[in-house]
Amino acid sequence: MTAFGSMGIAQIKAGLAAKEFSASEVAAQTFENIARADEQVHAFLETTEALAQDAAARIDRAIAEGRFGDMGVLAGVPVAFKDNMNLTGTHTTCSSRMLENYVSPYTATCVEKCLQAGALPIGKLNMDEFAFGSSTETSAFGPTRNPWDLERVPGGSSGGSAAAVAAGMVCATLGSDTGGSIRQPGSFCGIVAVKPTYGVVSRYGVVAFGSSLDQVGPFTRSVEDAAFVLNALAGRDPLDCTSQVCDVDFTANLAEGVCGMRIGVVPAFMEAQGLTSEVREKVEDAIAQLKALGAEIVEVDLPHARAAMSAYYVLGPCEAFSNLARFDSVRYGYCDPDHADLGSQYEASRAIGFGAEAKRRIMLGSYLLSSGVYDKYYYPAQQVRTLITQDYTQAYERVDCILTPVSPRTAFKFGEIGDPTEMYLSDMFTISINIAGNGGMSFPVGLGRETGLPVGVQLISPAFKDANMLRVAAALETVYGKAPVAPAFAEEKGAE
Ligand code: GLN
Repeated sequence: MTAFGSMGIAQIKAGLAAKEFSASEVAAQTFENIARADEQVHAFLETTEALAQDAAARIDRAIAEGRFGDMGVLAGVPVAFKDNMNLTGTHTTCSSRMLENYVSPYTATCVEKCLQAGALPIGKLNMDEFAFGSSTETSAFGPTRNPWDLERVPGGSSGGSAAAVAAGMVCATLGSDTGGSIRQPGSFCGIVAVKPTYGVVSRYGVVAFGSSLDQVGPFTRSVEDAAFVLNALAGRDPLDCTSQVCDVDFTANLAEGVCGMRIGVVPAFMEAQGLTSEVREKVEDAIAQLKALGAEIVEVDLPHARAAMSAYYVLGPCEAFSNLARFDSVRYGYCDPDHADLGSQYEASRAIGFGAEAKRRIMLGSYLLSSGVYDKYYYPAQQVRTLITQDYTQAYERVDCILTPVSPRTAFKFGEIGDPTEMYLSDMFTISINIAGNGGMSFPVGLGRETGLPVGVQLISPAFKDANMLRVAAALETVYGKAPVAPAFAEEKGAE
């Protein structure tokens, strides 16, 4: 059986163009593979066979009529979506009981753009409830397992998106990142994971968590594939006024190398409490490799980044509180039946519909935005946000890209982190990038010496210079190679 999931985008498209296989075969075998692999991983909440076969039939017709070249950058490529992205006719649950029966009446722009680029829509992927979390353990429908070690979490909140790619079920998925939810699972699952600059990808149709922080991006096993997906996704959308014109070809300078590029490293991050020695070693190794490839390594300081976590856990819950107010059992969401008055209907519906972490964020946001408290927390957090943004602006006067760890450690075991504040520390290196709004990505640099699990390094670009970090990642890829399918799943299919 052809292992389409372990192929890259260019390989699938070349096979289609050469008529080695059809798009309908790609779709059918992708679902067969998912049926087997996902029994163990539980990345998918729903698969969309009929939609994929329709899309595949259109591609096959184009191939027969000699029009394949016009079908778009993702023509015939299986792509799956985090379950906070609307796709007409599918459930969009955000892994919450609150939206268990919600069927999308419309399609998110990011999904629509993949479809317009010829992608085969494969299904919807598990996540932490409403994207609150770092492990998928808060999903109301059970956690996703890390394909590298099924006893461990895949990271989160986009854990399903990362695991589906790492297990070779598909070669590309979309996730969303508010504080680290693309990069941290990308690191835990050993794949390429990109959170573009805020505004590169439209947020229209993606269920909002923190509207000033959320951004959509791709998970893939190669830098080139991430660039292909970004080419499909990026650009101004009249339906999202924060999206920007972006006519960059993200594949254009991948092969240029890093000779002469200035890469920033942040000494305070490398000495951070909680950073494990195996992760530190891998990050140092990546720095040494870039130096050997001709990059200039420059120390930069981000003095306010240490306040990013505190600012985020004020701003994030405030925005989440206001965004989640719509799930009131009347406009949207679970409605508990048979209540005498509206107040008790709200109360019961929200008590049953939301899980513990969602309730924690809603209550925190509600408190922080209440009068008297607002001035003490929300306003200073916005000031901290400005200081963090200025730190980055200053750093980028001296460097083209910054390299840091993604997560302080490799994937942890289910249940290992019970304390929510300890869980929040998973994002200690990723959060400041959402606060400043610039681009960040995780690139896999091999396995940790102690745990034998994947480690990612984070590359950070100035706003709208996302191509810089992709170029550095492509240079690292010449050393570390493309991300493999997790061994247990590669062997099963006899692939790679
Ligand atoms: N783990 C962080 C949180 O729980 C980030 C989540 C995200 O980026 N969606 O808020």
